[in-house]
Amino acid sequence: AAKEAGRANHQFFTPELNKRASERMWLESNLRHALADNELELHFQPQFAVDGRRLVGAEGLLRWRRRDGTMIPPGQFIPVAEDTGLIQPIGDWVLGEACRRAADLLARGHPLLIAINLSAVQLRRPGLADRVAFWLDAYKVPARCLELEVTESVLMDESDMVSNTFARLREMGVALAIDDFGTGYSSLSYLKRFRVDKLKIDRSFVTSLTDGSDGGAIAEAIIGMARSLRMQTLAEGVETEEQFGGLARLGCDQIQGYLLGRPMPYDDFVAFIARHADAPEAVG
Ligand code: C2E
Ligand code: MG
Ligand code: MG
Ligand code: MG
Repeated sequence: AAKEAGRANHQFFTPELNKRASERMWLESNLRHALADNELELHFQPQFAVDGRRLVGAEGLLRWRRRDGTMIPPGQFIPVAEDTGLIQPIGDWVLGEACRRAADLLARGHPLLIAINLSAVQLRRPGLADRVAFWLDAYKVPARCLELEVTESVLMDESDMVSNTFARLREMGVALAIDDFGTGYSSLSYLKRFRVDKLKIDRSFVTSLTDGSDGGAIAEAIIGMARSLRMQTLAEGVETEEQFGGLARLGCDQIQGYLLGRPMPYDDFVAFIARHADAPEAVG
């Protein structure tokens, strides 16, 4: 360990880490203005019921479009937003934007379920359920049109804050999903305590369905467990018909991935819906 620490210390001064540090400083100072300057966008990736390949919803995914046109992916700036506290105003914007779009879809006759990602940081602070209630009311969106995705780490939080917030959201009728399921600590007792509606099977297990590694044993286990706990399953990152077929055979409920649609700007998503003319009955 001492040897490792020594190496890490040494590496701290390499140009590579200097570059990373200055990139981070750039992100920090520019992210502050991104919101005010309208540089954030919510893109939408369609979600389908396996049964009949019916369009049932979409996941809102955050994008930062710089004025020069370059796109910064969320994996790069969300961690910075979390460390600086900027995740609070940014997360609130995402919530409002999701409700605004859900209302517009309703007005167009498409009652789709819109899912967004929540950072653990947002759940540890008081007031999240109030903000959800505020935005739903502001755009007159029924709670059943909104789904909130959290990662497993959130469930391990011992504080009452998270469980109280979950309870309030459930009471309101907002759906809750566990994102990237299977990659963190997945304990049955957590799932019982928090009672979520949906497990999103991580892309890595979808990949291993067809790459010969475990033949989908983990995906199968997750689907079986979800069924016995009366939760839905959605497989993420489905890229091939072979994966789709495998998941359908295992009884997976829903599918999201490049095979059926990439994340796209809102206007493109509206056009996408029009091409899938079968009236969606997501949250009737
Ligand atoms: P996630 O919530 O697990 O989202 C799925 C990611 O997989 C997205 O990356 C999506 O573009 C990508 N993806 C979807 N289908 C496929 C596929 O078939 N193949 C492959 N290779 N990838 C696929 P993205 O948009 O870069 O987002 C990355 C992560 O950033 C998200 O993972 C989520 O954890 C986080 N994130 C995105 N938007 C927000 C947000 O508004 N708030 C917070 N707190 N986090 C966000
Ligand atoms: Mg997600
Ligand atoms: Mg995910
Ligand atoms: Mg992820």
